[in-house]
Amino acid sequence: MCLELKTQNRDPGGRGITTPSFRMERSAVRNLFFFVACTLGGLLVPSAVSRDTISERAKKLHFSSIVVDTHDDTTQRLLDDTFDLGVRHSDGSIDIPRMREGNLSAIFFSIWISGKITGAEAVKRAEAQLKAVQDQVRRNPKDLILATTAGEVRAAKSEGKIAVLLGVEGGHMINGNLEVLRSFANSGVRYMTLTHSVNVEWADSSTDKPAHNGLTDFGKDVVREMNRLGVIVDISHVSDKTFYDALEISKAPLFASHSSCRAICDAPRNMNDQMMRDLAAKGGVVQINYHVGFLSQEFRDAEKKDPKINEAIALQVRQRCGGDGNEGCMLIEGDRITREFVAQGKLPRVDYSKIIEHIDHAVKVAGVDHVGLGSDFDGANMPYGMEDASKLPRITDALLKKGYSEGDVKRILGENTLRVMAEVERVSQKLSRRRK
Ligand SMILES: [Zn+2]
Repeated sequence: MCLELKTQNRDPGGRGITTPSFRMERSAVRNLFFFVACTLGGLLVPSAVSRDTISERAKKLHFSSIVVDTHDDTTQRLLDDTFDLGVRHSDGSIDIPRMREGNLSAIFFSIWISGKITGAEAVKRAEAQLKAVQDQVRRNPKDLILATTAGEVRAAKSEGKIAVLLGVEGGHMINGNLEVLRSFANSGVRYMTLTHSVNVEWADSSTDKPAHNGLTDFGKDVVREMNRLGVIVDISHVSDKTFYDALEISKAPLFASHSSCRAICDAPRNMNDQMMRDLAAKGGVVQINYHVGFLSQEFRDAEKKDPKINEAIALQVRQRCGGDGNEGCMLIEGDRITREFVAQGKLPRVDYSKIIEHIDHAVKVAGVDHVGLGSDFDGANMPYGMEDASKLPRITDALLKKGYSEGDVKRILGENTLRVMAEVERVSQKLSRRRK
């Protein structure tokens, strides 16, 4: 999830978009900067993308590959019982028909609530979201199957099904209790992002004031327990110090489920080159995030010039979704209104080629074995040409045109993530044996 959209245009209770004055109370410049980054994006111009220029070679490669996306926020929509993943929707980015069309073979649905909701309420809401995802799998048995291991993802592909996986986005949802973490793992959760956009009581976030100098002793215990349980340590959103603490403690590779390159777009929750090298040295993967505010420095610079856009979008989202905290509506409408603003020329259009630029930079810095895909679909603003999962073959096509080998493209599309999963499973088994 694009952190700013979720937190900085909503009230602490998650009950609707806040007034601009609330946002101004908290680190005003940063909030406005991030809010607009998260709510504004490129506008789709159908005439410009109607021609499918994907090569036959790219299509063949793409559809024979396992394509894994490690971060999707569609779960917020699934909380509405009437939403059916099985039918094609005219809005949002994810449903079964479009996943099929783009050969998205494995999808991690994000379990997310605002970091300001804590305690037992946070656990309860997380459990409701886990159930909402599991219900969709039950309702669509011909297309979807729950998966918890790399082997199960491969088996799903062989059976012609889409593998559904679960990731918890924010350590606040364990309520400071390792038993809750164990329960999540038992329910099939296979990664946990240590923080969202605010600190948790045991770890610092990249977009909050440092309070713990990274991970506390308990935070380190959380990482150790995740290793034992086979839950991938996700370092998207965390502060640089939290990242380095987790990297040092973890006995298994880590990943950033949805982060891009700070060298290209200076967002604090993107990774700098040294962090990517250090992540790679431990076998990890940076999964490139498609959100325009994390891809494009030009976009970030432009939005800073006109903070009133922030207020205007917030107002329109509130008018369309009401103030009852319907996150699914707010995310979808925020994206739609953003596109309207881009159409009006108030912000620059960002093309999906920016995704390729970030992938290529990360490959040059960290190596081709350490880059993957973490879209942030249905939780952020997608660039022009990558509006939904059906557009994914464009990534394969663009990488081939850039001179990447077919093997390297497969690694980026999913094999690197499957390698991390398998290694995390191996470490978990080893640690569990040692305990017995
Ligand atoms: Zn996020």
